Amino acid sequence: MSASSVSGKEFLESAIKQFEEAADILKLDEGLREFLKIPKRTLIVSIPVKMDDGSIRTFMGVRVQHSSARGPYKGGIRYHPSVTVEEVTALAMLMTWKTAVVDLPYGGAKGGVRCNPKEMSNSELERLTRRYTAMISSIIGPLTDIPAPDVYTDAQTMAWIMDTYSQLKGEPTPAVVTGKPVSLGGSEGRAEATSYGVAVCVRESAKKFDIPLKNAKIVIQGYGNVGSYAAEILHDWGARIIAVSDSKGGILLKDGLNPYKVMEHKKKTGSVVNFADAKNLTNEELLEIECDFLIPAALEGQIHKGNANNIKAKVIVEGANGPTTPEADRILEEKKVKVIPDILANAGGVTVSYLEWVQNLQMFRWTKEEVLKKLEDKIVKAFNDVLNHVEKYRIPFRKAAMVLAVERVADAINSRGIWP
Ligand code: NAD
Repeated sequence: MSASSVSGKEFLESAIKQFEEAADILKLDEGLREFLKIPKRTLIVSIPVKMDDGSIRTFMGVRVQHSSARGPYKGGIRYHPSVTVEEVTALAMLMTWKTAVVDLPYGGAKGGVRCNPKEMSNSELERLTRRYTAMISSIIGPLTDIPAPDVYTDAQTMAWIMDTYSQLKGEPTPAVVTGKPVSLGGSEGRAEATSYGVAVCVRESAKKFDIPLKNAKIVIQGYGNVGSYAAEILHDWGARIIAVSDSKGGILLKDGLNPYKVMEHKKKTGSVVNFADAKNLTNEELLEIECDFLIPAALEGQIHKGNANNIKAKVIVEGANGPTTPEADRILEEKKVKVIPDILANAGGVTVSYLEWVQNLQMFRWTKEEVLKKLEDKIVKAFNDVLNHVEKYRIPFRKAAMVLAVERVADAINSRGIWP
């Protein structure tokens, strides 16, 4: 099993290819290209852990720091059996572009430990996390590299990292990680942050493409953190959520679903399927429904060359990471389906991570309303910045977002100069 449907090597190759395409448009200097293709630092560690049965097991861990041209490194840590150095390198590179698109004062990094958290006890995971933190503690820090949660890591993992780092430094250092529990300096609004960013992108593209948001037909694949909150926010803004799904299947109600009631039903039964008055359908059927906005918010690779031709949405807003394959992208472009790419559409999460860090550094607390307002301003600005590049270079949104990001990073490197 893999966290991603492609190998780490292929994933890295495709991340580099995306970067090269943007570099071509910008006619980027050859030397700068080479510099940005390779991460600045990769630290690989062997993490010994005493298991509950007394045996010792050793796990591979890595932290890849891609670029700090625009600020401290930022990026999550994933625990998964398929973690490879190449996969983490690609993800670190993507973080550099994502933080640049939203204009956060950060670079890009990513961490990973090759382990299967589903087969480990809580205390084994705690020992693994604390030892990994100690082993990368020389390169992370509140002003150098700030990790966050990713696949199979959560607020508890971040609390262990924060505590271990603070013990080693001899002072409480909440700003060393984001995504912490609110009791330890986590931010209000983090739970719905990514969905709020997705909803703002839906609203802004509705304005741009002259689709009234009131009663706009919305289809959402995935009813987890990102999908369910996005459904609730867009419903509250007057849009009509006509279909949603989870791993067990989907439901369709043309008059509009009440997402709060769907969540109650999912909590009771374990799935959205068999919701009152709605028609059950498969995930494949769901993607092909005629609608104004399709929001993939589940896994990567869901819209591919096999189904892209059948997509009848006017706009796709990518809540998930990498839900559209490059082949599908080309087909959608021919069909004139607009795609608001992941590095813009789901950047609400990293933006609230940034706001959490700012609160920690200032020893300040903002209300949820304050956090969401700041988030909204950042996403609206990023959306318009990308739109300017769409119009300036006459390219699709995904390419425009990459060009904007690479341009910002290259500008920072050129202004700083290469020392000595
Ligand atoms: P989650 O685990 O909370 O939810 C995932 C949902 O997808 C679940 O409802 C699951 O049932 C459903 N699902 C799984 N397989 C499916 C399938 N084959 N068809 C339809 N639905 C399926 O995860 P999440 O945090 O909501 O993340 C969703 C996506 O968004 C991921 O790609 C993630 O990388 C991306 N993302 C999340 C955040 C965040 O802040 N949570 C930030 C940026 C990007």
